Amino acid sequence: MTTLVSLAYLISGVCFILALRGLASPETARRGNQFGVFGMALAIVTTLCLIGTASLWAIAVAVTLGGSIGAVVARNIKMTALPQLVAAFHSLVGLAAVLVASAAFLNPAAYGIAQGGGIQLSSLIEMGIGVAIGAITFSGSLVAFAKLQGLVSGKPLTFRFQHQFNLALGVLIAVSIVMLIATQAPVAYWMIVGVALLLGFLLILPIGGADMPVVVSMLNSYSGWAAAATGFTLENPLLIITGALVGSSGAILSYIMCKGMNRSIINVILGGFGNDAGAAANAGGGANDRPVKIGSAEDAGFVLKNASSVIIVPGYGMAVAQAQHALREMADHLKDAGVQVRYAIHPVAGRMPGHMNVLLAEANVPYDEVMELDEINRDFGQADVAFVIGANDVTNPAARSDPKSPIYGMPVLDVEKAKTVLFVKRSMASGYAGVENELFYRDNTMMLFGDAKQMCEQIVKALDA
Ligand code: NDP
Repeated sequence: MTTLVSLAYLISGVCFILALRGLASPETARRGNQFGVFGMALAIVTTLCLIGTASLWAIAVAVTLGGSIGAVVARNIKMTALPQLVAAFHSLVGLAAVLVASAAFLNPAAYGIAQGGGIQLSSLIEMGIGVAIGAITFSGSLVAFAKLQGLVSGKPLTFRFQHQFNLALGVLIAVSIVMLIATQAPVAYWMIVGVALLLGFLLILPIGGADMPVVVSMLNSYSGWAAAATGFTLENPLLIITGALVGSSGAILSYIMCKGMNRSIINVILGGFGNDAGAAANAGGGANDRPVKIGSAEDAGFVLKNASSVIIVPGYGMAVAQAQHALREMADHLKDAGVQVRYAIHPVAGRMPGHMNVLLAEANVPYDEVMELDEINRDFGQADVAFVIGANDVTNPAARSDPKSPIYGMPVLDVEKAKTVLFVKRSMASGYAGVENELFYRDNTMMLFGDAKQMCEQIVKALDA
């Protein structure tokens, strides 16, 4: 039985690795997901066999209830709301880690970790570290959820000596863990939980503006390490492996995103970035009287038809409007007319990593037309038209020129180097980071005000005409 369980767990672990590998590219993502689903199904069935029939009813009720809620939420969630859903799920992983560790602390015999009237040393260490990571993940993810959902202000909330205070809390957690190991005193255990919960809140509160994606990815990593710690408490090797995979892949993704946004990974971990003044001052930007050039769908059709090279820059607004199909139709018309069409994807365009890639793949846009920022940025200089559809922050030159801006340092797509820049959006409003975009007022910019999908449909009509 033990050999069979180990074998099944090994197969699950390999499936999870293949799932991560598959998810690295849109072409293999579907296969990767299938590996993940199979690996998880095998893991659940194997674990149920391991437990036996003792608590089968309780487990069946929990799985049915949790599974039903999960299915309803997953079916109804809008893709633009995925980041907050992911943050909410991370909080549940953190909570689970805290609950499992607390149950084990209160009843060590039930978990097979009792020793001489107390708890064995190795379990105390795992428990102390695990519950701290779990509590930080739980409260931090709740704050991230509330910010992304708009329940609390997305602006950075800071106070004097914040970093020093956070550092002191970190030290207090470390001291409490040592106390727990030395004395097994309940007060030390609950101290870790309480202080870690507070630290989680304080680490995420100062994050604002455009930096939220990296934080969600970092919380993903934290939730993985919390799950791995739970695996140690439950002595379940697969949970340790899975937790470590989530933890390390989340950390790698955060690192890649930090590089993409020119942020320091250490600052992300310490919760100390995104707090430059600027977003607040600029929030709701666009409220000035400078003239802008406004065009119609017919104007856009004329410019596009006469171009020989067009680079499309999709952003969050395309996702909101679900304009990807209409956009592809527009691109097909242009390609039929001999125009070279490519898509430029910024690493944080939209509201989740890979958001734009998923939407374009859904609309069957050929993969070879979809380019990453590094691959295409220098081509804007030779492009006739940059067609920016529902994107804003990812094109904002303030990221290069204004050290006070909350997006300063983030690489942006150099759309203004194209001969003509067409911006499709509904108003002069700013994007997620709340920063006004100087490009709207440039001579080579034409604003196409309207819903992204309707505008594309009208341009298609204009091209047909
Ligand atoms: P932005 O949020 O900067 O801009 C989106 C623009 O879309 C807005 O200016 C809005 O203008 C326009 N818009 C909204 N709805 C529509 C519609 N129906 N039709 C047409 N336009 C519309 O998006 P970007 O993609 O440029 O940048 C992403 C931002 O989100 C970055 O700041 C990033 O850091 C942040 N972020 C990214 C995450 C990720 O993982 N990718 C996660 C969380 C945040 P208007 O209202 O005038 O129409």
